Amino acid sequence: MITLSKTEREIIESSIRDIKDFPKEGIIFKDITTLLNNKEAYGVLMNHLYQRYKEYSLDYVAGIDARGFIFGAALAQMLGLGFVPIRKKGKLPYTTISQKYALEYGVDEIEVHIDAFGEQKGAKVLIIDDLIATGGTANAAAELVNQTGAECIECCFIIGLSFLEGIKKLEEKTKVYSLIEVN
Ligand code: AMP
Repeated sequence: MITLSKTEREIIESSIRDIKDFPKEGIIFKDITTLLNNKEAYGVLMNHLYQRYKEYSLDYVAGIDARGFIFGAALAQMLGLGFVPIRKKGKLPYTTISQKYALEYGVDEIEVHIDAFGEQKGAKVLIIDDLIATGGTANAAAELVNQTGAECIECCFIIGLSFLEGIKKLEEKTKVYSLIEVN
């Protein structure tokens, strides 16, 4: 199983910017736009994800709205796989299934097209997002994937806020890989 080297970790970690009190007081927002516009960091990250997940025999990569789309769509293309968006409620045009969940700040609902992972049951799916906080979003996403008849093989996050215990909770449901853990 491929994990991050010390140098890779340092390059990725130092490219992520902390914004205090956004979107409300008390939240330290992890800004990944400074990772995306840094070609070295973005390259190191995507290469690492490719090296890890090329061994997994996946069928799809599913990204969580909206930052999960950036990493997920690029990774799916590198792996030669299809990409599935898991979207905020009301954005997908065809028949969907949906799940409500609690955020670190607020309540929301996500959905996926009922046929997103193909006709055959048991498609192997990697879910990806930029960050796991309470784990509410990712739990709902894993639930949705499994409800379509596909199988969530692993949830991957660039950043894990381990002090919120979302990773622990999600690990009861599926495997979890978070590259940079913040304690
Ligand atoms: P949660 O459901 O609590 O795990 O929240 C995860 C979702 O909210 C992800 O889609 C993140 O992009 C976003 N999010 C939550 N907290 C933060 C944070 N401190 N910095 C950046 N994004 C966050």
